[in-house]
Amino acid sequence: MSATILDGVKIARDIRSEVAAEVKAMAAAGIRPGLAVVLVGHNPASEVYVRGKVKSSEEVGVYSEKHTPPENISTEELLELVIGLNERDDIDGILVQLPLPPQVDSKKILMAVDPAKDVDGFHPVNVGLLSTQREGLVPCTPAGAIEILKRTNIPIAGKEAVVVGRSDIVGKPAAMLLLNGNATVTVCHSKTRNLPAVCRRADILVAAIGRAGMITRDFVKPGATVIDVGMNSVTDHAEFDRLFAGNAKREETFRTKGSTLAGDVHPNVAEVAGAMTPVPGGVGPLTIAMLMANTVRAAKLRRGK
Ligand code: NDP
Repeated sequence: MSATILDGVKIARDIRSEVAAEVKAMAAAGIRPGLAVVLVGHNPASEVYVRGKVKSSEEVGVYSEKHTPPENISTEELLELVIGLNERDDIDGILVQLPLPPQVDSKKILMAVDPAKDVDGFHPVNVGLLSTQREGLVPCTPAGAIEILKRTNIPIAGKEAVVVGRSDIVGKPAAMLLLNGNATVTVCHSKTRNLPAVCRRADILVAAIGRAGMITRDFVKPGATVIDVGMNSVTDHAEFDRLFAGNAKREETFRTKGSTLAGDVHPNVAEVAGAMTPVPGGVGPLTIAMLMANTVRAAKLRRGK
């Protein structure tokens, strides 16, 4: 048996074209959703993410602008920038790219973003709206993970779901979305005892850990759906061999680039799972697509639609 591979690239493309159609319809009513991305300093990974967000905005017709304050900005200066964006009517979504430099109080900054424009869904108001099943803005990555289940007709209601990872950004909101979808949800973390046995209860297993290939086939119930949120850069040869020995395409990338992108799920899970998301090409592409969807939703919610 070999798991069905759930194609995140295709699902993300579908979502982007739906968002583009909505943007077009809004344009007819004289509304153009606007997204402001704030990128402090020169973190190379953040620069890549922000470039992707701006490019995607252009593709779907969302207005976007990038703010790039210097690395040494103070909390007060960054607050001023965020408050200015809160006040602008042409901006529907504000995204402050994390991580912020150490001198900046990240919590203070995220708290300052108007919840109605918080397209990352990190503000406690949006966390509260999600946990009480009210209309709000949901964090993009876990929303994308659930969207994959929905769009591939994998039922959630009544299923056993296990989420490994309890971060505010991924694990907790993923668990809440599954609970809102009427799954029976278990959330695991680094102190969970007998993790493989707990994971084997899952019909739907979500891995959001940040450890390459930690979820191996013995964590997975035969036929389960496995959603791999992990994005880990593997540079160590022994680690590479543990995960990808014999995979010619990966070996070629590893040889030329010196690294390869791996999820939290070991490739041998494909031997037991019913369906699984690949890395790359699974949850990753959904994150930006959901950001576009959130920006359009924010534009509508702010206008009472
Ligand atoms: P965090 O480091 O914030 O959280 C990791 C979670 O995993 C923690 O709850 C931690 O437990 C748990 N954990 C760590 N080690 C173990 C272990 N050995 N056994 C059980 N649980 C463990 O990471 P994030 O949630 O931000 O990200 C998770 C992964 O998702 C990363 O690989 C990240 O790169 C990826 N990611 C991908 C995105 C995408 O666009 N596809 C977007 C965001 C993240 P504890 O709380 O006890 O420490």
